[in-house]
Amino acid sequence: MSIVELARPEIQALRPYQAAEQVDDTVRLNANESPDASEAGRFRRPLNRYPEVRPQRLRHELARRFGCADDELLVTRGSSEAIDLIIRSFCRPGVDNIVTHEPSFSMYRHYARVQGASVAEVRTRANQDFRIDVDALLGECRTTTRIVFICSPNNPTGTLLPAADLERLLEGRKATSAVVVDEAYIEFAGVPSVIGLLKRHPNLLVLRTLSKALGIAGARCGAVIGEADVINMLNAVQAPYALATPVIEYVEDALGNTDALASSVDRIMAERERLRRRLSGFAFVRRVWPSAANFLLVECEDAAAVMHYCQDQKILLRHFGGELADCIRISIGSTSENDRLVQALENLEESAVG
Ligand code: PMP
Repeated sequence: MSIVELARPEIQALRPYQAAEQVDDTVRLNANESPDASEAGRFRRPLNRYPEVRPQRLRHELARRFGCADDELLVTRGSSEAIDLIIRSFCRPGVDNIVTHEPSFSMYRHYARVQGASVAEVRTRANQDFRIDVDALLGECRTTTRIVFICSPNNPTGTLLPAADLERLLEGRKATSAVVVDEAYIEFAGVPSVIGLLKRHPNLLVLRTLSKALGIAGARCGAVIGEADVINMLNAVQAPYALATPVIEYVEDALGNTDALASSVDRIMAERERLRRRLSGFAFVRRVWPSAANFLLVECEDAAAVMHYCQDQKILLRHFGGELADCIRISIGSTSENDRLVQALENLEESAVG
């Protein structure tokens, strides 16, 4: 069974927008474009024509990189857009819900609210290493649970869900929910993506982004990977011409430079370890959580004071409330940025002692 059958009936019936044909060496009077290249802005070629309705070459490059077939991948405006497309496609407003774990990335909840879908959250706890409890997630699921969202490695706890646990969840919700695994930080985890599980688990959808390890957040490019029929359905929901020509061309170029991309991930993982050791040595740091991502979650004696001190030093960190009120999330910066943070924290410690 395909999880397309779980989607909103009107979305299942939707056909993709029929964009005007784009054929080289023709007189194009079929798309209400301007015949004149605007003189107002500069790019390496005129932009009076629409981009490809879906960027085929870019899709092929991303599918090759992530290890799936072309028709199993939709290129999206960041993975944020993919979250929105999936929720809009599967959840009937006022009827269906999503299940996820908390604390996690807030946009699953956000887009569910936009769609009028309710959200059930399973808390993960510091005293259990923020372990994501698959049995608790399964226990939260109802007949109207259309999607289970897993963030692995999780933002902001850095926790990874073991593949065996994920398989249990996929099996447990086999014909009843899409299971979305957000792998925004997977390149920093030192373990393979779960995309390989797709063949055995057609209810799996995987989100990838080019904003983190690939270092091009400004390009707004990501992807959703899943069974071809589900991807076709999401394709019909996505706006035509979703990715702009400069973005498509820029990302295609960036993907060609794989050496630079790989060395950046290695450097960030080495810096993560260096920073973890330095931070663990401060008296006001209670604990640095293990992280499979490009950030560290740090529990402090007085998280708000550390935040404010660093802000005064023009260093921005992230603070959350609730279960994480004592914690700060620190993104791994460049070596000199990390040194600047360590120096500021040394000054803070000295001023507290002195
Ligand atoms: N998923 C997670 C877990 C994230 O932390 C983020 C951004 N912080 C995103 C998705 C969105 O990334 P983007 O839209 O840039 O691909």
